[in-house]
Order: sequence, then C-alpha cells, then structure tokens
Amino acid sequence: MSTSVVEPTQLTATDRCDACGARAYVRVELESGSLLFCGHHANQHLDKLSATAKNIVDERAQLTAESVN
Ligand SMILES: [Zn+2]
Repeated sequence: MSTSVVEPTQLTATDRCDACGARAYVRVELESGSLLFCGHHANQHLDKLSATAKNIVDERAQLTAESVN
C-alpha cells in the first residue's frame, strides 16, 4: 500500500453521480453522509442541498476542460 497523501476532496473517474451514474463532479457532504452528482444533477439539486450541506466540493470547472458525454 502506498502511503502517499491523497487529497480527500478530489473527485475521480470512479466517483459516480447518485442520480444517473455519470461521472460525478460535485460532492455534497451532509450530516447523514455524502452525495455525488454530475454537473447536470448538481445544477438541479445544489440549491436545495446547499442549505443543509456541511461542505460542498464543486469541481464542475473541470467539465469545461473535457468533452461531455
Ligand atoms: Zn447525474
């Protein structure tokens, strides 16, 4: 096992949207756990969730650097 430090808030290709299974670019951390969303579903849900989220990791900026499926 590598002991290199991994930035825990960095979303990778293995993180999938809880709503549709596409690659996730936003993680919403709640009291009860965390939710992952693709850019599309983040746009739909962030307004509501931001009121109760403890932390939001938003990497949607990366969407513009990659082709969107
Ligand atoms: Zn989605």
